[in-house]
Amino acid sequence: MLRVAVVGSGPSGVYTAQALLNRSLVPEVRVHVLDRLPTPYGLVRYGVAPDHEKIKSLQNSLRAVLEDERVTFVGHVQIGGADGVPPARLAELYHAVVYCVGAAADRPLAVPGEDLPGSWSATRFVSWYSAHPDIAPDGFTLEARSAVVIGVGNVAVDVARILARGADELRATDVPRAALGALAGSRVREVHIAGRRGPSQARFTTKELRELGALPGARVVVDPAELAMDPAYAAQEGLPLPAVVRRNLDVLRGWSARGEPAAADAARRIRLRFFLRPVELLERGGRVAGVRFARTAPDGAGGVQDTGAYEDVEAQLVLRAVGYRGVELPGLPFDPVRGTVPHAAGRVLRDGVPSPGEYVAGWIKRGPTGVIGSNRSCAKETVASLIEDAPLLARRPAAEDPLAVLRAWGLRPVEWDGWLSIERAEAALGRSLGRGPVKIPDWQGLLAAARGEEG
Ligand code: NAP
Repeated sequence: MLRVAVVGSGPSGVYTAQALLNRSLVPEVRVHVLDRLPTPYGLVRYGVAPDHEKIKSLQNSLRAVLEDERVTFVGHVQIGGADGVPPARLAELYHAVVYCVGAAADRPLAVPGEDLPGSWSATRFVSWYSAHPDIAPDGFTLEARSAVVIGVGNVAVDVARILARGADELRATDVPRAALGALAGSRVREVHIAGRRGPSQARFTTKELRELGALPGARVVVDPAELAMDPAYAAQEGLPLPAVVRRNLDVLRGWSARGEPAAADAARRIRLRFFLRPVELLERGGRVAGVRFARTAPDGAGGVQDTGAYEDVEAQLVLRAVGYRGVELPGLPFDPVRGTVPHAAGRVLRDGVPSPGEYVAGWIKRGPTGVIGSNRSCAKETVASLIEDAPLLARRPAAEDPLAVLRAWGLRPVEWDGWLSIERAEAALGRSLGRGPVKIPDWQGLLAAARGEEG
């Protein structure tokens, strides 16, 4: 029997477990999928926007893996960190450990004023409306009239859409109560999304971009002059552009042709801006009051250069959506520049040499890029390495009952039954509010629900 721990129950962790189950293994495999949270699914639960029901429904296929009899979900167990189980101790319990811990931090913007009140990482905002228990349920009040979202990736589009969407449309989702209340009382009227390069270099995908134009109470505004600055846009017909870029440009062209909407046309505006590099967050009365951008222009090599001109955009709320970053897990090697764990085909490298029994998959292996499905091939590669090593791994000592050892160490794991109990509590909470399931947004509530206590 080969005992494998997978640390992290997001897509990369569950796809790793699935790949292990799918390989005909000699000896047989048992997989424990550990998570710091008492809830499974990682960013599918706490990152995918609540109005993306189709992507959220991916939980059903992840669930089927976690319910396989060879898999055990072990929630509420922290690996690494001050109060966590050190990787070296975890290694004593399993023949192999696969770290699928994602990229938990946001990339810094590194400009003055970044930490002013009213300036937040978009990941924090996403965690808030996704009811992540590390974020206070009343963390955002949305009294701003103008918001700036920095970055033009899919996270930027997600947070801009949630800001621009009416709360009524989110009532049917699992958005927590406090966030729904704050969104209902939102005074936001203008949402600016700003990219430092041109539209052909934007990282959003077309489906996500189009959604902005389909919001009932909002109109998207694109400045044709900014599109025209992009050489790829101007010479589109003659250039072999990637399909996604061509489609994005088509959508943007359509919006730019409509011009500025009349005041009565829509409650909210989404202004998609390009060639604006943030240089400073402006302050008034101790809070953020705007963003100073350097105007940039194409440098002819895919990058941009400053033109010497500046533009200030008023904003009482700034969301920095400039990417995620992996976090060092003490006891595991870490490359601080790439924000990943050094590896060879998923085998963790210590001083350049594969470390027996230690593997990585997902964003902590390859960086925070790609769609959810990208984790499937990434996990397969890691599992192929693990299977290759299996004869040696099986000779390493491992605990007969790792869960009993974790309990003896003072941990209180939440197993699958506990998670099902949380699901029932969230359904009951939703019913009491006349809604579908509504997420429980705090640790105390989640752990009480896992124990089957009344909320
Ligand atoms: P991302 O796709 O890497 O986009 C980051 C954006 O921030 C880019 O526009 C980048 O511009 C900009 N940026 C980086 N540093 C900057 C700086 N110092 N100043 C100004 N702008 C800066 O990251 P993400 O949006 O966080 O998404 C992460 C991953 O999750 C992506 O693979 C994304 O597709 C995925 N995701 C998918 C969905 C979905 O499918 N619905 C939803 C959310 C996230 P440059 O290009 O100039 O560097």
